[in-house]
Amino acid sequence: MESATTRQAWSADLKIASLVCLLVLTACLLGIATRPLGHLATIWPANALLLGLMVRYPQLARPAGWLGGVAAYVIADSITGGAPLKTLMLTLANLAGVVSAYLLLSRLSEEHRSLRSPLSVPYLALAVTLASLASGLVGAIIDPLLFDGTPFSGLTFWFVTELVNYIAILPVLLTMPDWPERLKDRRQRLLTSRQRLLHALPAVSLVVFGVLCLMVGGPGALAFPVPALLWCALSYSVFTTALLTFAFTSSLLVVLAVVGIPLAPFDMNSHPVLLSLRLGITLLAFAPLTVASVMAVRNQLLQRMQYMASHDQLSGLLNRWAFYEQARQLSPNRPLALLMFDIDHFKRINDTYGHATGDLVLQAFARLASHGLRDGDALARLGGEEFALLLPGCSHNQALAIAERIRTDYANAPISLEDGQHVQSTVSIGAVVALQPPADIDELLLSADRVLYQAKESGRNRVVISQYAPDEQARTETA
Ligand code: GH3
Ligand code: MG
Ligand code: MG
Repeated sequence: MESATTRQAWSADLKIASLVCLLVLTACLLGIATRPLGHLATIWPANALLLGLMVRYPQLARPAGWLGGVAAYVIADSITGGAPLKTLMLTLANLAGVVSAYLLLSRLSEEHRSLRSPLSVPYLALAVTLASLASGLVGAIIDPLLFDGTPFSGLTFWFVTELVNYIAILPVLLTMPDWPERLKDRRQRLLTSRQRLLHALPAVSLVVFGVLCLMVGGPGALAFPVPALLWCALSYSVFTTALLTFAFTSSLLVVLAVVGIPLAPFDMNSHPVLLSLRLGITLLAFAPLTVASVMAVRNQLLQRMQYMASHDQLSGLLNRWAFYEQARQLSPNRPLALLMFDIDHFKRINDTYGHATGDLVLQAFARLASHGLRDGDALARLGGEEFALLLPGCSHNQALAIAERIRTDYANAPISLEDGQHVQSTVSIGAVVALQPPADIDELLLSADRVLYQAKESGRNRVVISQYAPDEQARTETA
């Protein structure tokens, strides 16, 4: 038994180690493939990837996961024929940054780690700056030993390279949503092709400004894309913004590496100018990321406020205001049924069991009545123990069946209290069906109120349904 558990734990660890190793190795090879012969790579996504994996998926941040990462560095360097001492030193410099950043980032709250708070980006910036400095310090020692550099050139090269890679890649990994959720979200949000087109405009503007930046050149060119980046941040989620920013800054970095950017009459091959440019391009990312984070907070708050303004706190149903809003949007040419509910002798429940129990009864009724409703139906708590249900496109018989279903379900579903007592109550329902609904929903409510009164008068716990007639001489029948 115990050995089976041990074997399972081993196999889980092996899976984690291989997964991390495979991903980081791929990133290392990508970095190696793009580096000039005999030099260090300027595009080195492996560290940011390892860090992103560990921060984003804590289940990987175990000894096995870290070992997988180290193995990837060692394998990658051995493949390219690095001597053991050199491999060890490079791995040390890589790990110095990743581990320091991990220790700092794992102290942040989940909200900050997914960049959904105004201060998240500054915190992230601080963490990766310190981590890059840690790599830089190791770089200052190993550069003179391995590449005939000076401690200063080692420090600046490692610092800038680490920072550039962290800032470009990490936000994408930290904000990446779960894909099925995201796709569902998109389908719901984007309906028409016109909306799709408008939605794409900020991204298109980023491409346009990027091209302008390269074509016009000059010392100010680097600031050209800022408006487009900010527009993206205002329009898209933090993840999409991070992805676009990454795509933009990395393309610019590639162009810089391959053909250079006509930014100023500087010597493009000078070491400090190159570092400064790479740093400048990367730091551009902070503006859109910060704005996107702030927007995410704002949108979340707005959603919460919209929910609170349109829902009844106790029952979670629509409130009276939202009910009227929904009613206003209905088509006047489609039949409509309106059901009004009033719980019978509710005051007695309050008097006998207390107000808190009365609240439980209201919640139970809300749950039960909302069961099985269709998308366009609107159930609201109009106030006290009175509820209303709008059923667009519903016939007389369908409305009657729904009302009867709710009435009998409610009468047969006693609520159990903590002290073992049961509270049972009933509901009276007044329903009106209109073939051509009136423009003013109040007329229909008044009509339903009238039949509800009849249900109460004729003994409660029953449904009275009537055909809505504009002359208000409605024909009624008792079910
Ligand atoms: P009927 O069968 O004629 O409808 O009698 P009733 O007692 O249900 O009617 P009445 O309108 O006299 O009583 C409604 C009560 O609902 C009075 C009020 O104190 C109570 N009430 C209103 N809002 C709330 C609430 O949010 N929670 C609780 N627990 N009670 C509420
Ligand atoms: Mg009442
Ligand atoms: Mg009542």
